[in-house]
Amino acid sequence: MVSRVIPVDAFDLVIFGGTGDLAKRKILPGLYRRFLQGQMTEDSRIIGAARADLDDAGFRQMVAEAIEEFVPENRRDAAVIAAFLEKISYISIDALGVTGWDRLKAAVRPDMVRAFYFSVAPSLFGDIAERLHTHGIAHAESRIVVEKPFGRDLASAKALNAVLAKHFNEAQIYRIDHYLGKETVQNLMAVRFANILFEPLWKAEYVDHVQITVAETVSVEGRGAYYDKSGAMRDMVQNHMMQLLCLIAMEPPYHFDPDAVRDEKLKVIRALSPVQPDDIVRGQYRAGNGEGGYLEHCEDANSKTESYIALKTTVSNWRWQGTPFYLRTGKRLRARASEIAITFKQPPHAIFDNESGWHENVLVIRLQPDEGMNLMVMIKEPGPGGMRMMQVPLDMSFAEALGDEAEDVPDAYERLIMDVIRGNQTLFMRGDEVESAWAWTDPIIQGWEARGDKPQAYDAGSSGPEDALMLMHRDGRRWREIKK
Ligand code: NAD
Repeated sequence: MVSRVIPVDAFDLVIFGGTGDLAKRKILPGLYRRFLQGQMTEDSRIIGAARADLDDAGFRQMVAEAIEEFVPENRRDAAVIAAFLEKISYISIDALGVTGWDRLKAAVRPDMVRAFYFSVAPSLFGDIAERLHTHGIAHAESRIVVEKPFGRDLASAKALNAVLAKHFNEAQIYRIDHYLGKETVQNLMAVRFANILFEPLWKAEYVDHVQITVAETVSVEGRGAYYDKSGAMRDMVQNHMMQLLCLIAMEPPYHFDPDAVRDEKLKVIRALSPVQPDDIVRGQYRAGNGEGGYLEHCEDANSKTESYIALKTTVSNWRWQGTPFYLRTGKRLRARASEIAITFKQPPHAIFDNESGWHENVLVIRLQPDEGMNLMVMIKEPGPGGMRMMQVPLDMSFAEALGDEAEDVPDAYERLIMDVIRGNQTLFMRGDEVESAWAWTDPIIQGWEARGDKPQAYDAGSSGPEDALMLMHRDGRRWREIKK
């Protein structure tokens, strides 16, 4: 069922921050899986570059342990792991100094795709870009991959873009938003643009509203001090949720081409209306079930940072006039569940006497935990008793549809890294998209800061603060239940 794996060109991939958490959890295990699948070829090389004083053997040992921990047992093959480790080397490098750069220059090979993954703090991006340039390590075809957070407001995002633009042009810069690498998210585009079924209905005339939910059960414990400088708006809404909103609201691009897709997404961000204070609810989880609350986890008893946010916005263009988009995300909620739900309007005239109440058609796109799609349709309740309506799901779970092979579907990071090697920027954020997203976000944050708004407390394991329910109720709507 899973389509044939097409190997990518041979590459040299340098991972700055190769000993860091992200490299261990995602990047290196992901590359192993692509090697196992035959997509990363024998003549490709991975170079870990970080501050730690390690040799090749020490780094390989670390990579082997990361594979052991983060790759499922039925995908761990000792011979393949050994072959994969042979492709890996390590250079101890100082992003701020002179150590290691000459060795790196000697290690990269001519005539190979050359990519540099900046899996380090954004404050190091400029120094690394500068040194790659001055040491002649990056060439005109080289690519760089950068991680979130991409700025914390418009000014810092602009500064970061400017730092990178000094040495790399936009076609060389891959800003990762791993949500865009998810199978379902790409399927959203397939469903919209490869079928005639939905597109005629994909507009305010037929869509009552859209809900986007990213609910997590985890707290911020352990990284509270970091999270407290960010909050749910910066950490989730400005990037991941904004990207999801764009894919739902965008016009069909003329072609599935990186800039054509990103042009259309940009138009959506620019069309987003400012959010009114009454249309925002912020929350902080309180202590419960023997666990600490947000204020203990973030180590600031007076913190006003939100661990939950719900808001209502609109896309001010012809297609979406009158259709609200409701977004919510938070920590320590009832369940880990991310989904997009598109609720269609009711038919204009009811021909059935319906005792059980009319239900809407809803298209649900699940991102986690179980990726798939669900279309809620009305049918007749089976059996005698007249024409009573009931709502049933037309369910498509990817795991069920693909069976065992679902495990070989690349995860978001793997897919995106392969896209970097292929030179395909479709699923990466362009600099102007990131800046426009901040231009929308900044006044919202500045607004609550100027008003001195405090987030409302909510119980761990709940669906969020009470007022978030009211945000929907007052419009005669309700949130979908947060469940696995
Ligand atoms: P980390 O602190 O675990 O690792 C940082 C890495 O940077 C280490 O390998 C360290 O050796 C290296 N480093 C630090 N200073 C250096 C210097 N002067 N010269 C050379 N190397 C240096 O960080 P992380 O969690 O792996 O995150 C890396 C980046 O990815 C950050 O920007 C982070 O915001 C982003 N990110 C991380 C995650 C995640 O899940 N960990 C998710 C999304 C984005």
